[in-house]
Amino acid sequence: MRSVYEKYESVIGLEVHAQMKTKSKAFCLCSTDYSSAPNTNVCPVCLGHPGTLPVLNKKLVEYILKLGIATDCKIRKRSIFARKNYFYPDLPKGYQISQFDQPICEHGRVEIEGKVIGITRIHMEEDAGKSIHDLSTDESLVDLNRCGVPLIEIVSEPDMRSSKEAYDYLTMLKQLVVYLDICDGNMEEGSLRCDANVSVRIKGNDTFGTKCEVKNLNSFRNAADALDYEIKRQIELIEAGEEVTHQTMSFDAKTKTTYPMRSKEEAHDYRYFPEPDLVTVYADEEWKKSIAENMPELPHVKTARFIKQYNLPKYDAEVLTQHRGVAEYFESVCSNISNKNFKAASNWVMGEVMRVLNDKKINIDEYHISSKNLASLINLISEGKISNNTAKEVYNEMLNTSGREDENQEPEKIVKEKNLMQVTDTAEIEGIVKKVIEDNPKEAERYRLGETKLLGLFVGKVMKESKGKANPKTVNELILKAFSEQI
Ligand code: ADP
Ligand code: ZN
Ligand code: MG
Repeated sequence: MRSVYEKYESVIGLEVHAQMKTKSKAFCLCSTDYSSAPNTNVCPVCLGHPGTLPVLNKKLVEYILKLGIATDCKIRKRSIFARKNYFYPDLPKGYQISQFDQPICEHGRVEIEGKVIGITRIHMEEDAGKSIHDLSTDESLVDLNRCGVPLIEIVSEPDMRSSKEAYDYLTMLKQLVVYLDICDGNMEEGSLRCDANVSVRIKGNDTFGTKCEVKNLNSFRNAADALDYEIKRQIELIEAGEEVTHQTMSFDAKTKTTYPMRSKEEAHDYRYFPEPDLVTVYADEEWKKSIAENMPELPHVKTARFIKQYNLPKYDAEVLTQHRGVAEYFESVCSNISNKNFKAASNWVMGEVMRVLNDKKINIDEYHISSKNLASLINLISEGKISNNTAKEVYNEMLNTSGREDENQEPEKIVKEKNLMQVTDTAEIEGIVKKVIEDNPKEAERYRLGETKLLGLFVGKVMKESKGKANPKTVNELILKAFSEQI
């Protein structure tokens, strides 16, 4: 039976706030440090004292231009700030400085899995403070450290058609701002926040339905769950003959449900007007050009290059380029690898290296082993000097050294000192094979009578006798040779 849900399609547009990674606030010199004690990063400007004047942080403009260029936006040469007026205890000025009808970036685009998602606009604004209600039963506290912290808001076109696409878009956007080094991407600390707009319509309709906006989405998973719930709720309303009302919803992560927050304030309620205390932002050609020239390689470009240059499967290239640091580490390993054995480098970085990063919850800069030493280890394997098993042992020894600069970390040194070099000397292995066959006459007899599956047993015994250092392939060949010569 075809479910009623399949008649509908969802339409989703996302508004993402990203905190910029500047040292100081948007319009004063106060620190943006997240870990500071409440109300210590404040000054007369961000507290909104009368007679003070804001001064724009140039880095904020530079950062938003980076993202604007990376998302193919049209950059407005002259843009201005506007005051967004509302009252709240965590907003001492009584307004937020934002951009309204003249945002600096507009009409951009990004791609997820080959599909284009339009970027309506990206603008600059400042954060408000934080009200804390749960430290005491009868008091509410206000922390103004975040007042004036620089944010950008990225508004998408209603181009997404499923919660999965919304999730992929958010993941891609986070990767992009982190690559550009303009945002730390930390969702727990609120560096990335998302509001999701969603409506439903019968498939094939070309007009949009009435949308609801879901707020308080503090993880991408929550965003996807909230959208799934909201899509279902809206379809069921329509199927019951009712109408979707334009509402702002909140998401309860425990029950994975949405509930109405307050009726949507219309834009004119904010009484936006041009900010009189700040001058026009002028983004000239020269500035844009120098930013474009110093842009890091973007994630999707890097992925495509990895596939081509290192001859990697798409999956490997995507995993390796997820984080810029890991990608750089991988390339550094590759520059020291012999025989163009890039797939082996990929396997090691995706496997052992990333496992350590995940287990220890560290980033690649804190990873213990230098790319040069990892490359040497991989080279020892591919040159047949050590077996894979020995390599694991050497790798663990490398992890136990004091760090990348420690010369005891060099795998050649460890192999030599622990006498782990693979024995490829045929005469030596032949000797062991002979001894093992002599020591196991019953098994040897059975083998000769046709029980060839006993080969594995002999290989195992020879490997053991050689303390794991014999090359297994050579061992195999020499056992077969020994038996064939004896028959
Ligand atoms: P508002 O007037 O409520 O601020 P906007 O037109 O500015 O609405 O759009 C805000 C966000 O909502 C954008 O991300 C946009 O893509 C999305 N959006 C607009 N209309 C719809 C709709 N009918 N269904 C889903 N999303 C929508
Ligand atoms: Zn300040
Ligand atoms: Mg709007």
